Amino acid sequence: MKAKVWLIGAGPGDPELLTLKAVRALSEAEVVLIDDLVNPLILEHCPNARVIAVGKRGGCRSTPQDFIQRLMLRYARQGRCVARLKGGDPCIFGRGGEEAAWLQAHGIEAELVNGITAGLAGATQCGISLTLRGVSRGVTLVTAHTQDDSPLNWSALAQGGTTLVVYMGVNKLEEVRHGLLAGGLAGETPIAMIENASLPQQREQRSTLMQLCEDAAQFKLRSPAILVIGDVAAQAASSSALLQIPA
Ligand code: SAH
Repeated sequence: MKAKVWLIGAGPGDPELLTLKAVRALSEAEVVLIDDLVNPLILEHCPNARVIAVGKRGGCRSTPQDFIQRLMLRYARQGRCVARLKGGDPCIFGRGGEEAAWLQAHGIEAELVNGITAGLAGATQCGISLTLRGVSRGVTLVTAHTQDDSPLNWSALAQGGTTLVVYMGVNKLEEVRHGLLAGGLAGETPIAMIENASLPQQREQRSTLMQLCEDAAQFKLRSPAILVIGDVAAQAASSSALLQIPA
């Protein structure tokens, strides 16, 4: 049998937000490499597998990506069924595409399994519909953090007219605010900050673009968190009082 690696999205944290396909792949896996942001409760689906923590807190601080890829290759070449568990969706800021291509280039079959990405889950868990009819015609997922620190085109994002969901933004709040204000987004634009989405310790705070940094500091916003920026972020979880829902 040809060796295979599953690249599996573990979803945002709630173990019930896992796909049936992910559960099946995990039950077949003999070696499971697990990232930091994956809820360890998910491991109940692979009780007999060898589990290796490969997140930054998992002990491979130096060249983690290279190290992880070589681990996958080593076990796959031993003929073992390998599962790589990533937070959210493997292809949303998750290097799933890169890893699949790398494995294929080394003669190993790779299969990607979708997960629910944190930005979509976080919004829904807080009662925010990212494309609420009559309010938002689309959604843009964007990371505030880039490997080479190249600047984002904030004015294109500000002018785009879609809801923005910002990943990895906790240490970039000043840049987010400055970029979007300079790009023409109104200071009153509603924002939701959502930390630990879908987990029991989930917290959320509503704010505006103008107040973002002050409110985040007061709220003590910590990673992992996403920002939902746009008029839809005025929707409340418990009532529609903040926003007029179109009939
Ligand atoms: N592949 C992942 C994203 C990995 S990048 C996905 O699809 O969700 C890591 C970033 O994702 C974090 O910095 C944070 O912005 C976001 N994130 C991941 N899990 C989260 C959670 N439970 N709550 C809020 N944000 C989360």
